[in-house]
Amino acid sequence: MLGRFVLFLGCLLTAGLLGWWLDTHWPGGYAVPVGLVLAASIWVLFDSARAGKFLNWLRLGGGAEGGSVSGFWGDITTRVRRALRERERQTLECQARLHDFLSALQVSPNGVMLLDGEARIEWCNQTSAAHFGLDLQRDLMQTIGNLVREPGFAAYLAKGDFGSTLTMPGRDSSPTRPVTLSVQLHPYGDGRKLLLSRDITVLEQAEAMRRDFVANVSHEIRTPLTVLAGFVETLQTLRLEDSERQQYLALMSQQAERMQTLVSDLLTLSKLEGSAPPGVDAQVSVPNLMRQLETDALALSQVMGEPGVTDHHFVFDCGFDGFLAGTTSELLSAMGNLVSNAVRYTPAGGDITVRVRQRADGCVVFSVADTGPGIAAEHLGRLTERFYRVDRSRSRETGGTGLGLAIVKHVAQRHGAVLAIESTVGKGSLFSLVFPVQRVVSGAAGGAHTARVNPSVPLDGPWIDVVAKPGLQ
Ligand code: ADP
Repeated sequence: MLGRFVLFLGCLLTAGLLGWWLDTHWPGGYAVPVGLVLAASIWVLFDSARAGKFLNWLRLGGGAEGGSVSGFWGDITTRVRRALRERERQTLECQARLHDFLSALQVSPNGVMLLDGEARIEWCNQTSAAHFGLDLQRDLMQTIGNLVREPGFAAYLAKGDFGSTLTMPGRDSSPTRPVTLSVQLHPYGDGRKLLLSRDITVLEQAEAMRRDFVANVSHEIRTPLTVLAGFVETLQTLRLEDSERQQYLALMSQQAERMQTLVSDLLTLSKLEGSAPPGVDAQVSVPNLMRQLETDALALSQVMGEPGVTDHHFVFDCGFDGFLAGTTSELLSAMGNLVSNAVRYTPAGGDITVRVRQRADGCVVFSVADTGPGIAAEHLGRLTERFYRVDRSRSRETGGTGLGLAIVKHVAQRHGAVLAIESTVGKGSLFSLVFPVQRVVSGAAGGAHTARVNPSVPLDGPWIDVVAKPGLQ
């Protein structure tokens, strides 16, 4: 500002000198106004040149090379440059923030889509594109209603009531692999909309499983309950002979037992699902397990046939005299279920072979082979589903709950074991549990023997829970 004032004084001084010079050469009183006009013109020209330079710099974008202007215009240039730099910094900061924000939305497991006032796609993340089968580049600024042709979605969009969610099939949905989406629009700003989508396939499947499970349990419990209620009513209302009463009471006890077995299997399953997998500290003696299994199998075989007579030919062959790291109750339950299935489904006179072997790779294989009816190939993959039965009436007749193999599968998974099923209709079945080497604590091989008709097998020594020894493989 001072420079500008000095310049102005300089111009006035020049005008004074010019006036004085003109007055001495050209008397007549014009000297002063002419001198003033000339001085003002010089000042205006000089100032305009600098203003022009400043405007030119501004027009070129206000780059770094505006520094050659000095004085008043130089000041303005510096200030404008500073303001421009600050604005540029803020813009970069905003861009970085926007980039971060969009990156965060990009990794969201849910679909996010921004629609403008005309329901055109302004932006969407990859999840959203996958949910609706969109191409992130090609479909930008396309109307969503033209791209998503699902009738339910079109109706939802047209209705304009976005307070509730819409459940619709996803783009990749097929009858064999259904995909279910939960979709909701949220209006915001000036007619814009946020479209959120979520893949709820797993939730839907879990919910369907829960519904099926409750329906199955209710059905399983209702049948014996109805029978029990019927007998109670009969006993209350009719005068019965002693023998009849005894017969009804026996049938009632059978139904009560069936409910007890079902509840006990349900509790076993729920315990298996709700607890941590067994560690490798507790070890179970395999020969002792085999002895207990043999006792139970022979008892069951007798119960199913004539009293005191074993219905089947058993071979119990314990070829592994070692331990398995795991929980006794669980292992006994899984192996016991396989043996009891063999006994229950194999007709009288059939052969049942229960065997334990250690393979060359160190894994221990527990197997139960029978000469029963066998299972058709189409059922094999579904046998471990809860309440899945090939022969419903045979299962019920023999006291089955439909939960046995589901328990076996859970126990196997918790012990890192694999359940293998081989079967040929009319010939028999082979169920095997293959325990990984990490669960095997080796011992010497034993031998095969044939089960006795009335065994009273003593359980010698502690079964289980032998404290972990070093050298556990
Ligand atoms: P259940 O209590 O009905 O026996 P499981 O889950 O133990 O239930 O078995 C499921 C179905 O698999 C049975 O209902 C039966 O149809 C079939 N199954 C299981 N083991 C055998 C076997 N050893 N021989 C023939 N069928 C079998």
